[in-house]
Order: sequence, then C-alpha cells, then structure tokens
Amino acid sequence: MENVVIIGSGPSGHTAAIYTARANLSPLMYEGLMAGGVAAGGQLTTTTEVENFPGFPQGVTGPELMSAMRAQSLKCGARIKTETVERVDISKRPFKVFADSGEVIEAKALIISTGATARRMSIPGEDKLWQRGISACAVCDGALPLFRNKVLVVIGGGDTAVEEATHLTKYASKVILMHRRDELRASKAMQKRAFANPRIEIMWSTVPVEAMGEKFLTGLRVKNVKTESLSDIPCSGLFYAIGHVPNTAFLEGQIDLDEIGYIKTKPGTTETNVFGVFACGDVQDKKYRQAVTAAGSGCMAALDVERFLNEHE
Ligand code: FAD
Ligand code: NDP
Repeated sequence: MENVVIIGSGPSGHTAAIYTARANLSPLMYEGLMAGGVAAGGQLTTTTEVENFPGFPQGVTGPELMSAMRAQSLKCGARIKTETVERVDISKRPFKVFADSGEVIEAKALIISTGATARRMSIPGEDKLWQRGISACAVCDGALPLFRNKVLVVIGGGDTAVEEATHLTKYASKVILMHRRDELRASKAMQKRAFANPRIEIMWSTVPVEAMGEKFLTGLRVKNVKTESLSDIPCSGLFYAIGHVPNTAFLEGQIDLDEIGYIKTKPGTTETNVFGVFACGDVQDKKYRQAVTAAGSGCMAALDVERFLNEHE
C-alpha cells in the first residue's frame, strides 16, 4: 500500500514528489512514457531556453531544468516508474492505479499532475521549425531576440489568442492575429482589446498551410478558407493559440471536470471532488499555465496530502 502516488512528471509532479518525499511519505511517481504525446518531464522538454524560472539568471534549457527536477525528486527519496497510468479506480479508498505494464498499485492518496498538451496544426515545415520561430507559448518565448521588431503571427480566435497577441505587441513590429472564421470566440472585453490595439492586425477566415524557412521561420503560406486562395506572408514568428488538451481521459469520468476537460479544484486548494485525490499544475489550470505556477501548485498538493493523511489515515 502506497501513501501517495503521483501521476505525471512535469514541474508540478516533481515539486509534489520533492515535498512528499521530504515529509517521509515515500511517494511513488508514474512519470509516463510519451503520455499525451509528451516525454517524461513534461511540456518543458519540448522547448529550448527557459528564461523566466526563478534561480537561473543565465537561463536554462527546458530538458536541463526537468532533468534537474527529476534528480532532486530521486535524491529526496521519491521512487519513479517510467510507465503511463492507463486508468484508476477512485470509487473507494484505497485507490487503485493501473499502469500500462499491467501492474496495479493501491494508494491512500493520489496527486494528479498529468498536465495538458498544446494543440498544434502539424502543417508542412512545422516540425523542422519548431522552436525556431514556431511556438505554442507567447508568454514563454515572446521575449526571445529572434522575435524582436519582427512580424509575428498568432493563430486562434479565443481568449488565449488575444491575450498572446497583445503580449507580443511589446516586442513585435506588428502582430497578425489569424483566425479561421470571421468572428472571434474571445470574450467581448478581449475582443475590444484586440480591435483597439493599433499593432494588432486581424486576418479573418485564414489558416496557415505551410511554414517556410531553412534554419528559422521566414514566412507562412496561408489560405483564405472562403476563396481558397493562397498567399505568402513574411514573418519571423508563428504562435499557436488554438487550445490545449488536458490529459484527463484516463480518469474516465470519475472526477469532476470543467466543460473543456480540466480537473475542477476547490479554489485556493488542490482538492478535487474525490476525497483523497488532489490535482496540481496545468491539468487543473487553464489560466496561468507556467512552470513556476505548476510547481507552486505541486507544493500545495503535497501539503494538502500530508494534512489529509495525518487527519484521515
Ligand atoms: P506538464 O509539463 O504538462 O507534464 C505532465 C507530464 O505528465 C507529461 O510528461 C506527461 O507525459 C505526463 N502524463 C500525462 N498523462 C500521464 C499518465 N496517464 N500517466 C503518467 N504520466 C502522464 N512555462 C514557463 O514558465 N516558462 C517557459 O519558458 C515555458 N515554455 C514553454 C514552451 C512550450 C513549447 C510549452 C508547450 C510550454 C511552455 N511553458 C513554459 C509552460 C510549462 O511548460 C507548463 O506550464 C508546465 O510544464 C506545466 O507543468 P505540469 O507539471 O502541469 O505538467
Ligand atoms: P479556445 O478553445 O477558447 O479557443 C481556441 C481557438 O482556436 C478558437 O478560436 C478556435 O477556432 C481556434 N482553433 C482551434 N483549432 C483550430 C485549428 N485546427 N485551426 C485553426 N484554429 C483553430 O481556447 P483558449 O486557449 O483561447 O481558451 C481556453 C479557455 O481558457 C476558455 O474558456 C477561455 O475563456 C479561457 N481563458 C481565459 C483567459 C482570461 O480570462 N484571461 C485567458 C486565456 C484563456 P473557432 O473559434 O473557430 O472554434
């Protein structure tokens, strides 16, 4: 019987592992094997420089940061299995965790930190130019030198797209907000913000069909979905803001999710509606989505679990 099983291995999972290990709870982490299309270590393994995680004045690469977090979890006494959790049974305690190896583990408490995966469009040229002008996080990457005073394109019509386009106007010579329809999905307040910003140009009913460039992105081939006509736009940045998919399918409806699929937590805590199951990081946060906020909520989950086990086990 495990005290606590942590599912997921991004900044939130590792912070929860470090804290629960230091609280002598001997946590077991399932780090996943390309779960949600992301390597163990989470979304930061898909990026290059991370310049906004405190403590690294010279910056640190995403893979380096995540391998340091993993080493710290192990040093503190966490045990890590490189397996994906296929399903759980949280209908009663002890909870059951079913790994893809066929192993079944029982646990007194669970921390779910399975993150979310940014949607991409997989257009030709995207893989080659990923992180060489193409990104899924303007707040993370927008300040990089390659985007300064350049034309940048944000894809999407939701709140995130408007927020990211607005953020990028701090660095870009111009931001093109490219949306596949002729009206935005974003809230009215956000729409007003986009329309009022002279540095944002909205390109309606248009989708990118090819990313161009040899070493770095130099342009996009785009299609007007109404006329089917193609044209080329010179630009140095392409930022996807077309939504994220929270990794919650393995929960099979056993926990309260919002309409998009994010786990609902009680405000100010990491408690879910299932007593003894806690959630942290991007899997329960569609607003902030940063490594440091994920890590912060991982700490909260660990403290919540410690309190739960002291009071109820
Ligand atoms: P994630 O990092 O999403 O990790 C979750 C992990 O759980 C994954 O490894 C996944 O495979 C695993 N998993 C999923 N399902 C299962 C399962 N069933 N069983 C076992 N394991 C499972 N933030 C910053 O602060 N600064 C940046 O510079 C920055 N750059 C970014 C660049 C990119 C390209 C992206 C996509 C994001 C970036 N972010 C950045 C955001 C940051 O990466 C996320 O906010 C953060 O990683 C979220 O952490 P998390 O712990 O919630 O989960
Ligand atoms: P949304 O799902 O709201 O919007 C995604 C956008 O991407 C839509 O405009 C959609 O187009 C477009 N899109 C999706 N797939 C494709 C595709 N394959 N090709 C082209 N375009 C595509 O996601 P968000 O991340 O914007 O928002 C998620 C949630 O978080 C929402 O509830 C939002 O309100 C909330 N949020 C709130 C914020 C705030 O209040 N400050 C900030 C950020 C997010 P279409 O409209 O045609 O479907």
